Amino acid sequence: MSVVAQFEEGLGHAASEYKAAFDAARDEPALRAANARYTGPSGIVTKLLKLMPELPKEQRRELGQRANRLKEEIESELAARLASLAHAQRAAELSGPALDVTLPGYGVRAGHAHPLTRVKHELLDLFAGLGFDIAEGPEVDLHENNFDRLGFPPDHPATDMQDTFFMQQPPGVSPRATLLRTHTSTVQVREMLRRKPPLAVVSAGAVFRRDDDVTHSPMFMQLEGFMVDEGVSFAHLKGVLTHFLRRLFGQNVPVRFRPSYFPFVEPGGEVDVGCTICRSWELGPRECRVCKNTGFMEILGCGMIHPVVFEHVGYDPERFTGFAFGMGLDRVAMLRYGIAEVGLLYGNDVRFLAQL
Ligand SMILES: [Zn+2]
Repeated sequence: MSVVAQFEEGLGHAASEYKAAFDAARDEPALRAANARYTGPSGIVTKLLKLMPELPKEQRRELGQRANRLKEEIESELAARLASLAHAQRAAELSGPALDVTLPGYGVRAGHAHPLTRVKHELLDLFAGLGFDIAEGPEVDLHENNFDRLGFPPDHPATDMQDTFFMQQPPGVSPRATLLRTHTSTVQVREMLRRKPPLAVVSAGAVFRRDDDVTHSPMFMQLEGFMVDEGVSFAHLKGVLTHFLRRLFGQNVPVRFRPSYFPFVEPGGEVDVGCTICRSWELGPRECRVCKNTGFMEILGCGMIHPVVFEHVGYDPERFTGFAFGMGLDRVAMLRYGIAEVGLLYGNDVRFLAQL
């Protein structure tokens, strides 16, 4: 077949077929694909136009014009069909169900700090507002800072291997030289060694004990505070702690001081607040397994710093007095958020934590 016949046959096929191909296309991608078969880079009409240099001179002009006309015709048909598709789509949107763009969208749920961390920050903030400095100490500390300088006698049961996690030591070093601190009172010792009165300091962090049963966790969070100056009395202790507890649990919560013993205070006491789970002080006596129906929960330990502690850190016990207090943050978090099981705070169950 001659090139001219080939060219004419190609033009004839393209001209008679392309409308049917466009008719079969139901959407824009199909329409564009159909169009590409004719005027795309390897489409039929494009290929014919590339054949033009091989056509005899006398027919080249006429055949070329026909091919170009067909190409223009196909392109304008495509544009018309695209416009009609868009129009039909818009009409379908307008006649379809209404889309209420004022409905709230699906938000991304942000995480939040663990309730223990939040309680810690809240408590530190409260004491900072009372003028206390915030201090930090290491979780691994010296036996001296954890026990000796606080007045623990060498045979105190707390210093026993059964109760405390001691760090492994190189040969020749006492096996009890360093340990995971058993309370945040180590920060009290460190700050008093470093600074001179007047002092008001608060510190919070993880502490470690070997207790491991259903009601105890080997790691828990504690907050500790102390104030030292000339003339600090038990009245200051009661005033600061009562103010603090009422800021935390509400102005009408009952606060009760009871005598108790800790090696590093004299006198020492424990403080109870009304149980915020049963709120029996306002709702009357109720069954409550958190406070065991007493209506009170022990919240913190406190006392006047023992003179022996001042001697160990180089303060004159005749001149300075001070008070100290410590509490478990898990207990505060339980009362604050009304949680009846301490284990929930350490279980890392997002279904529970997301509710707080
Ligand atoms: Zn209760």
